[in-house]
Amino acid sequence: MARSLETYAGKRRFAATPEPKAEKSRQRTAGLPRFVVHKHDATRLHYDLRLEMDGALASWAVPKGPSLNPADRRLAVETEDHPLEYADFEGRIPEGEYGAGDSLVWDRGTYETDPPGQASRMREKGHLSFVLHGQKLNGRWHLVRTRPRGGKTSWLLFKGEDDAASKEHDIVAEHPESVKTGRRAIRGPVRVSQRREAHVEPVQLLINVWPPMLATLSTPHGMGAKPYVFEVKYDGFRALAGISNGRVTLQSRAGLDLSRRFPKIAKALASIEAVEAVLDGEIIAFDARGRQSFEALQTSQPDQRYCVFDLLWLDGEDLRERPLSERRELLTSVLANVGGPIELAERLGDEVKSALAAAKKRGLEGSIAKDAGSKYRGGRRREWLKLKLHASQEVAIVGYLPLKNGEPGVGALLAAVYDEGRYRFAGKIGTGFTNALRRQLQRELDKEHVDAPPVVDPPRYREARWSEPRLVGEVEFSEWTRDGKLRQPAFKGLRGDKKPDECVRERAVG
Ligand code: MN
Repeated sequence: MARSLETYAGKRRFAATPEPKAEKSRQRTAGLPRFVVHKHDATRLHYDLRLEMDGALASWAVPKGPSLNPADRRLAVETEDHPLEYADFEGRIPEGEYGAGDSLVWDRGTYETDPPGQASRMREKGHLSFVLHGQKLNGRWHLVRTRPRGGKTSWLLFKGEDDAASKEHDIVAEHPESVKTGRRAIRGPVRVSQRREAHVEPVQLLINVWPPMLATLSTPHGMGAKPYVFEVKYDGFRALAGISNGRVTLQSRAGLDLSRRFPKIAKALASIEAVEAVLDGEIIAFDARGRQSFEALQTSQPDQRYCVFDLLWLDGEDLRERPLSERRELLTSVLANVGGPIELAERLGDEVKSALAAAKKRGLEGSIAKDAGSKYRGGRRREWLKLKLHASQEVAIVGYLPLKNGEPGVGALLAAVYDEGRYRFAGKIGTGFTNALRRQLQRELDKEHVDAPPVVDPPRYREARWSEPRLVGEVEFSEWTRDGKLRQPAFKGLRGDKKPDECVRERAVG
């Protein structure tokens, strides 16, 4: 390790922080030396200017950030050298670690001293004169050492007079974004005083933001011209998580508690670094072949994952009025150092054709298109659109036809959809069952047996055994017939998270 990096390593615990280790300094790459400016929301927001020299990144913390106006002399406090790998670091330094908070790559590029090759000699002498070739910062700059302040050496950073100077433009206000990811929203460390004050029950946080936002079924043609982002359409349980100072609640869309059923997820949620947060996402499981599978969720200890796509509440603030793009950036920060079964929901880009092609290639159900600028509003909304590769529908199960050979088990399920206060018959489903499932469904449906058909338009099946609508099934099918029946339906599984009267016929808008 370069001698200058010992201080860097001494201040950090690499088991806890995602910052790069200073293992061995890499050989300089060809070309001009690099520079980077990190925007770092630590105890105080500041900008870290780093210039590559002597096999490391010489670093200065600039509280107000650089100014394009040569008259502004900005305080720059010398800090420890950072390893070259640090130039690409963007993320969150965890609570309790040195420099805790978010850090973005605010600018980067190359630089040269004037005259060239003099960086370390100029640093020693206390006056660096250099030209930046960045995405935001360009032209000549100066760093001039003034005097030691409380053990730290302070310098002044200021712009040289040239074409890149400007008295009008406030570069840090006009360009807050990361040049690496485009991210703008940034979050400081969690304050001890906030933690002490937090006493809200996690379920109360969910009540604050209820109900969840739902997507409307659509097609690529029905979408309109808004700027959309495309997410993986997960095939699992929708779940909202409330976190209050390490206490957690995890609930389905119907308000059922899921934390006992998915203990690994609940445990991982408790480690999230936020005083208060509400997450929205989908719990999924994988089958033996590693494919996302709704059926695998029904097994006792599935390989479970919580794919989080939204952040509705953070540390006392209701985020639902903020645009989706901002909520997603803050979510990235909240999940930055959380591992295990919790992950950020995956995106499939911002173009419909390639998103659906990617979904098809990977065997997914489809994609959810979301208006990037939209607010979070409860209920079914057109800012979120469900694009499916295959038609599927949730149905209320209202009875069955027994197997024709006299063996125990259902031969076909009788399906219904809910329509203005009544159930309408939607067809029979004869495929998609194992023998064990046929027998299990028969036992469960017999418990709910009723004599009169629970649908307003019962078909004339002499063998039909009707039941109270309690079970919900998911079916895949080719299309709706003109009289409102499912054509070629196949059973995909039971939906324990849905109620029968939620099974309304889904129609694509557009
Ligand atoms: Mn810093």
